[in-house]
Parts: sequence; structure tokens; C-alpha cells
Amino acid sequence: MYLIMLGAQGTGKGTVAGILSKETGWPQISTGDIFRKNISENTELGKKANEYISKGNLVPDEITVPMVADRLNWEDAKNGAILDGFPRTVEQAEALEKILAEKGKKVDLVINLVTPREETITRILNRRVCSNPDCKAIYNLTMHPPKVEGICDKCGSKLVQRDDDKDEDAIKQRLAIYDEKTSPLINFYKEKGVLLTEEVSEKINRLGKDVAEDVLSKIK
Ligand code: AMP
Repeated sequence: MYLIMLGAQGTGKGTVAGILSKETGWPQISTGDIFRKNISENTELGKKANEYISKGNLVPDEITVPMVADRLNWEDAKNGAILDGFPRTVEQAEALEKILAEKGKKVDLVINLVTPREETITRILNRRVCSNPDCKAIYNLTMHPPKVEGICDKCGSKLVQRDDDKDEDAIKQRLAIYDEKTSPLINFYKEKGVLLTEEVSEKINRLGKDVAEDVLSKIK
């Protein structure tokens, strides 16, 4: 199956996608992670992408769409994938339909994560991620802290704060772009009958792992 994680920054897309990937065997394809890996390796793609990412803007489709098309060609994605952070615009969603249609596939399920806005900013500021690119575990300093401060429970590597999570202006810019360009995808996929909306909020004690459990019970 081809799944899409939809939702604003800080709603837990990466956490849910990671659990679903582990349970299903379908790769988690995170465009943000691919960009960050290229930035840390200082590749040409990384240099170009960083001009946009550092300001909280979207990387242009000419760069993003072929990158995803290429990743979906890998052997591990031939039976399914969990797209995390793509598509982010209606144009990207249309491009994805074409990419999958050429393989005789389609988007099977779109998981739309919804979190109250006041919680998302705090969650982004408190987010820490494992610096080991093969692990990428995600922590939250208040809700899901590591056992040892600054160290990943899973692999022992250093935890870091993403550069674009440090700057509150860039966070607000990313949320504004979500509202303007990404949120229309909710209706786009609702009309196609593939949307599953899931609430994630501390207030109702419902976190990413609870959503992942619910999704797994629906797709198994
Ligand atoms: P994320 O890790 O999903 O929050 O992505 C981090 C940053 O990478 C975003 O703020 C964008 O600048 C860029 N990015 C990730 N996915 C996309 C996409 N589908 N289209 C354009 N830019 C993207």
C-alpha cells in the first residue's frame, strides 16, 4: 500500500511513519530527511535545498518531485511506501498520482494528523532527533524525553535540534505555508475517499503510537 502522512509540522508525522514502516516493512520516505542528509553531506542538491529550508520555505518542485520519483523506483518501495512530508501542495499530489499511475499503483490511504496549533509550536521547539542517519529516532523533551539527557535510547548517538526548529520565525513561516499550500490537500484526498483523520494531542492523551496502532488495525 502507498500511504501518505499529512498534517502540520509537529503533529507527529515522522513518529507515526516510523512505527508504521517498522510494522509493515514499507520504507518511510521522508523528503525532509533526504534533504537534511544531502545538506549534511554538502551535495549540490543539499546546497540548493538549504537556500529554501533555512528560511522555512518549500523547496521547488523541479528539485523535490524528481527526487521522490527516483526514490519510489527503489526495489524496497515496489509494494508500498509511507510518504512523510510529500506531497505538500496540490501540484505535488497531482505529480505523485502520475508517478504511481505509471507503475499501476495509487495512493491507498492518507493519514491526516490534527493537533491544536498552540501544542504544535511547543512540540517543535521541544523536538530532538537522533543524529545517526540510520536511526533518526525522534524525542520530545517533555512528552518523550530520552533516558539519558542528549543521548538516543535506541543507538547511543547524540541527540540534536534541527536547525529549522531553532528559529521561531522560521517555524511560524512553515506553519503559514502549511495552512496556505498543504491544507488544501485535506479536501483533495477527502474527495478521493482515501482520507483518515486522526487527532494527536496531549490534552486527550492521544499520541503518535496510539494513532499508529489504530492505522495498523485498519490496514491489516
Ligand atoms: P520536514 O522534515 O518534513 O519538516 O521538512 C523540512 C523542510 O524540507 C521543509 O520545511 C521544506 O523546506 C523542505 N521540504 C520537505 N518536504 C518538502 C516538499 N514535499 N516540498 C517542498 N519542500 C519540502
